This record gives sequence, structure tokens and C-alpha cells, in this order.
Amino acid sequence: MSERAMFIGGEWATGDARQDVLNPYSGEVIATVPRAGAEDADRAVAAAVEGARQMRALPAHERAAILERAADIADERVDEMARTIATETGKALSEARGEAGRAGGILRVSAHEGATAAGEVLPLDASPGGEGKLGFTLRQPCGVVVAITPFNYPLLLVLHKVGPALAAGNAVVLKPAEATPLTALLLCEILLEAGLPPLALSVITGSGSELGPLLCADSRVRKISFTGSTRVGEEITRVAGVKRLSLELGATCPTLVLADADIDAAAAAIATGGYVNAGQVCISVQRVIVQGPVHGDFLDALLPRVEAIEAGDPLGGSATIGSLISEREAERVERTIAEAAGNGARVLVGGDRDGAVVSPAVVDGVEPSAPLSRDELFGPAVAVTRVADVDEAIRVANDSSYGLGAGVFTNDVTAAMRFVREVDAGALHVNWTPLWRADPMPYGGLKGSGIGKEGPRYAVEEMTELKTVVIHGLS
Ligand code: NAD
Repeated sequence: MSERAMFIGGEWATGDARQDVLNPYSGEVIATVPRAGAEDADRAVAAAVEGARQMRALPAHERAAILERAADIADERVDEMARTIATETGKALSEARGEAGRAGGILRVSAHEGATAAGEVLPLDASPGGEGKLGFTLRQPCGVVVAITPFNYPLLLVLHKVGPALAAGNAVVLKPAEATPLTALLLCEILLEAGLPPLALSVITGSGSELGPLLCADSRVRKISFTGSTRVGEEITRVAGVKRLSLELGATCPTLVLADADIDAAAAAIATGGYVNAGQVCISVQRVIVQGPVHGDFLDALLPRVEAIEAGDPLGGSATIGSLISEREAERVERTIAEAAGNGARVLVGGDRDGAVVSPAVVDGVEPSAPLSRDELFGPAVAVTRVADVDEAIRVANDSSYGLGAGVFTNDVTAAMRFVREVDAGALHVNWTPLWRADPMPYGGLKGSGIGKEGPRYAVEEMTELKTVVIHGLS
């Protein structure tokens, strides 16, 4: 067990109060971190005000060089990052390696996007009176960015905020999820080693419900970038005041399997897309909407694949997926599956719990109004609903307060076009599930799934402000 410090105002600080970080699989305490209070939050924002001044004064090529150095260090430390991720999240080491391996790339793309962010020349003479003037836009950093992140991808989702924010010339106060502060602290070390000005990043550990409202209400903060549940996202909108907000929130992503689909391909992709990271992915497949004629064949193809997924010890070597983030969360997932079964759905495989591990489940005959379809599950199960035709499939897909991602399996171009036009989601995948992301692409949901886009180019846009300049000729 190690005692870790947080990083505030250019210094590592141990704080007075402490809190435990657990290995969710074993329940063992692996570290303690400070439980920051109001004074720490205030100090972090005050430091970021000065940090933002320093970052804004740094030329873009110097900011980019820092991030590129950090990317090289991250590449060298993939194993250490992966082990930290697996230990504090309970995800399988192989999955954690995949996450850690993307760090360098995100930092490099961020460096590039920050260095090439530009304004545009405005055709002012398109409007009467605009003749003889020169108009253009300039992008400048927002200043102080508060980044609040969830537990499920403690490196990836932190990097998607911190990378673009620093590349664009901001200072960041990062509040990582309570369960997963160690990966964020490791990233902070890497960025400092790469030469980041120490006041440009604070990583403040502790309770989200205590620190979050303080950071989000602070008028010195200009931008909040939040990834987490829709409930907390809504709370943030109530305290934020006049600030720029990006909210990456919850989901119940659907995947449609139409009658003409390649059933094997659909089953193979869903057996991955519903279970990666034990289903704790915002773009996880939760609802599978299958057209009547292929319902039986699809289940026949899906079940053996799901049965073959091994859930167990994240560091043990053979497990495909590890535990959920806590035993409490595992109990909630177990209960939701049992509740669906109690209401007439059939659990065809899985759904059993051992500590924080839930065995991968397929539940058939789930009503669209059942909690297993309607509420975000964030666990290793898919809810299968049978529909008559494409109209009904699209209607059921849209029958959700969320809209993050969606997939369709079909070879019918017309059905695919209807799907992309009519399904309300931020990302639409034809012949794949929603569980797919290339780091540079725009990423963010519609409806209750949020506001704004990540992906370094889009995050840089959201973390900079546009000024309009007009030079008036005197003649
Ligand atoms: P959460 O909402 O419980 O916590 C997220 C973060 O908010 C944590 O750092 C937490 O400490 C902090 N927080 C808690 N209360 C707060 C408050 N009142 N004000 C400000 N911050 C507060 O989410 P979680 O359980 O860590 O993560 C799972 C959720 O994240 C799921 O809903 C999932 O869909 C969502 N998520 C969304 C995306 C996306 O890109 N859309 C990606 C990953 C996860």
C-alpha cells in the first residue's frame, strides 16, 4: 500500500484527510490519497489562473513540444500505466494495455491540433457597409479549464480533456473519479517530466460531490469539461453559471440486427461490444433490437460467444474481462438483470455475481420500457428485444432519453440510410456496434447523453474562444 500525494499549485501535497483506493476485484486497499477540501479547491483554481497566464504566453510550438515529449514518455511507460489502470479499475490487464497504448497517440494528435488551431478571414463586404474593412477571427485559450472524469477509462478520458486543453494554451484543474485517482496522478508525473509548467495542471483528489460543486461554481473557471453520469451532468448545469460546458454523459446504446444482416458478423461484434470493460463503457451495446425472422439464428450465434468470455481476476492472465468498479455496482447490475427476469424476460446466459464480478449475460424478451432497456446498465449484459420491421426497430432505438451511439447490421443500403438519418445518436455505425472509437473523430452525444464533442480537434475548438477582429480603413 502506498501513500500518494495530489498535485496542487506546483507542489505535491499530502493533505490532512486521506481516503482509500481499492482494488475492486480483491477488495484490497492499494493506496491512500488526500481527501481534498474547500481550501485545496480554492488553491488549485488560484494556481490555474496564474498557470493559464503562463500557458497563454507560451508559443504553440513549445506547448506542442511538451506534449510530444509526454507522448514519448507515455509510450515508454505503457506497462506501468496499464498495471495502475488494471489495479484500480479491476479491468483485465489486456484491456488496460489497450487503453495505455493509446495515450501517446492522443497526446500527439492534441499537440498537432493545438498548434494548428486558427481563425478565418471574414468576407465582410458581403454585407453593405463592409467594404474596405478587413475582418478575421482569432482563437484564444479559455483560461482555466476544470476537467472532471469518470472511473471507467481513467487514462483515456482524462487525456481527451487534458491533452487538448494544454495544447490550446489553458491551465487545467483535474478532478479524477474517486475510485481511480492513481492513473491521473501518474499522468501528471509524466506531463511534469515532459516540462509542463507546474502551475498549468493541478490534480485534486477527493469527493466529487464536495469538490465538484466548488470547482464548477467558481467564477475564475471559464470552461468545464465533464464526463460522467447524466445525473451529475445535470447537477453541474445548475451550479455552473456563465461558463462554457462540455458534458459527455450516460447512454443505453442500441444495435439493430435487421433480417438481411450477416448474422455471424453481428453476433461476433455484439459479443465484444456488449462486454468490453465488463460493459462499463458509455458506448457499450446495451439494447439489441432484432428483426423477427433472424431472432433465433442470431441468439444461436451470440450465446456460445458470450459463454466463451472469461470474467475474473484482472491481473490473472486468462480473463477477458475483469470486475466491475465495486461490489455495490455489481449488486446493482445483478439486481437489474434479476428484475427483468422477474418481469417475464429470459436470462439465457450469465448474470451471476461473485464479489464485484458479474458473468456476461444475455437477456431475451426485454420490454423497451423495462429498466434493463431504459436505464443505463453499465454492466456486462445485453437486453434483446424482438421487432417486426425497420420502422419498429428505429422507433425502439429512439425510445430512449439518451443518444450517444448506435449500430445497425444490414446489407440494405436504403435501411442503412434510414438508420443514419432517423436514429438520434452522436455516432452511427453501419455494420458495426457503437463500441468503436478512433481518437481523432468527433465524439459526443445527443439528448441526455450530453452537449459538445471531444476528439482533440473538436475539444480544442471547445476549449478556445473565438474573437472577431475588424480593421476599419480610415478612408
Ligand atoms: P459519476 O457521474 O458518478 O462521476 C463522474 C465524476 O463526477 C467523478 O469524478 C465524480 O467524483 C464527479 N462528481 C460526483 N458528484 C459531482 C458533483 N456534484 N459535481 C461535479 N462532479 C461530481 O460517473 P462515474 O460513475 O464515474 O462514470 C460512469 C458514468 O460516466 C456513466 O454514466 C457513463 O455513461 C458516463 N461516461 C460517459 C462517457 C461519454 O463519453 N459520454 C464516457 C465514459 C463514461
